[in-house]
Amino acid sequence: MTTDLLHALRHCVGDRHVLTKAQDRAPFELDWRKRWQGHALAVVQPASTAQVAEAVRLCAQHGVTVVPQGGNTGLVGGGVPDASGRQVLLSLRRMNIVRHIDADNLTLTAEAGCLLQQAQEAARQAGLMFPLSLASEGTCTLGGNLATNAGGTQVLRFGNARDLCLGLEVVTADGLIWDGLSGLRKDNTGYDLKSLFVGSEGTLGIITAATLKLFPAPRGTITALATCTELADALGLLNLARRSLDAELTGFEVMNALSRSLVATHFPSIRQPVPVAPWTVLLELSSTDEDAVARDRLTACLTVASDQGWIHDAVLADNLAQSQGLWHLRESISMAQAAEGLNIKHDIALPVSAIPDFVAHTDAALAAAIPGVRLVNFGHLGDGNLHYNVQAPIGADPARFLVEQEALANRIVYDNVAARGGSISAEHGIGQLKRDTLPTYRSPIALQLMRQVKQALDPQGLMNPGRLL
Ligand SMILES: Cc1cc2nc3c(=O)[nH]c(=O)nc-3n(C[C@H](O)[C@H](O)[C@H](O)COP(=O)(O)OP(=O)(O)OC[C@H]3O[C@@H](n4cnc5c(N)ncnc54)[C@H](O)[C@@H]3O)c2cc1C
Repeated sequence: MTTDLLHALRHCVGDRHVLTKAQDRAPFELDWRKRWQGHALAVVQPASTAQVAEAVRLCAQHGVTVVPQGGNTGLVGGGVPDASGRQVLLSLRRMNIVRHIDADNLTLTAEAGCLLQQAQEAARQAGLMFPLSLASEGTCTLGGNLATNAGGTQVLRFGNARDLCLGLEVVTADGLIWDGLSGLRKDNTGYDLKSLFVGSEGTLGIITAATLKLFPAPRGTITALATCTELADALGLLNLARRSLDAELTGFEVMNALSRSLVATHFPSIRQPVPVAPWTVLLELSSTDEDAVARDRLTACLTVASDQGWIHDAVLADNLAQSQGLWHLRESISMAQAAEGLNIKHDIALPVSAIPDFVAHTDAALAAAIPGVRLVNFGHLGDGNLHYNVQAPIGADPARFLVEQEALANRIVYDNVAARGGSISAEHGIGQLKRDTLPTYRSPIALQLMRQVKQALDPQGLMNPGRLL
């Protein structure tokens, strides 16, 4: 039975693209955080939508479940197989062609296995911009971005992956191809099918291509770092920047002191141009005006914030390389944390106004419950999205800490999130990591509706089972 399936899959995608040897499968079977080690029946690498459809049909005929995977940078264990050795891992990476750029319509149509960076570069070469931006952009794929409804650093101005998606091509659970590659900004012809697949984490079907929104490239981009004593001061700066810079404010990130210290420890070559402070804000202004005009506007905003006593040290990047250096500092926090050891990650969303109160209460509750605990707190303050991560006390074994304290830390953090109307997953998704936690924090009706959608689109339960629901 299994031999028949493998034979048919080889016939479909070619011998070389059905990986069954352990050493060939290995890079696909372990997730980026090294928390979930799976074992697939085979890694199948189709090169076209027709091959994806055929592979899905073959798996369905044999009752074999399918785990789609893009760049394998997901942080919730959604894209690696389980340990049964019975699942087919469908890697989309060979489907990496940018099919079309329509400069007048401001759209790009590309295959799901395109790296995010590749799509950004294709837009740039057309004198345009694709604004989705994540620290993993050199490895993650458009399909993965859409399947997780990725956020990143530009959501404040341009929205998340869902907001950037105009159309999709999808292979359904029964192996049909839905061509929904519309470049329309208005289309009220019934249910918004693409929105069902965006954020579905591979549980409803396989995204094979997408039509995405592009934007005119900004002429002037200025990045700054500023330090604050209180998170409430960072909020004061955010409100000021929103009022004075309006849509030109494209990034507003925060990092706590430990986030920056970990970067200093593990990546000492990364420049830290302002002293470590309780909070550091990274702001970015992107403008249709020249750099000099944009610089004046951002300087004026920071001067008002300084007069208010909200910020202390501040620095503006002088050129693109310096600007990239400031972003590099911010984007190295996840890697620095990984180098420090396994940790308990919380990717949470809150009303921005509730964040200072949330952090004060949750920091205190965790410190009382887990003496010596270290909190690595950073994220997209402008979007109300924090990466509120819990690291083992100095000297403690990180792996043991994770096993012993994860349930307690999660309860404290998520109860405080729920009490303030927040979400337990802002941008990383649910995957395996939060599957069993989700029912506590989403309403029974919401869960029932999600199950009904799953049942309607994947009645045999073949698409990425055990994830999300
Ligand atoms: C250093 C680092 C920084 C990160 N920063 C951010 C950030 O700022 N914001 C953010 O949102 N995320 C971030 N992430 C998480 C991750 O990069 C994103 O979730 C990304 O969108 C995943 O893309 P991928 O191609 O790697 O997907 P994978 O990890 O391969 O898969 C993720 C999920 O999508 C499903 N999937 C993948 N491809 C398809 C497809 N074609 N069709 C259907 N389902 C599919 C998988 O089954 C899985 O459930 C970061 C990760 C790292 C390692």
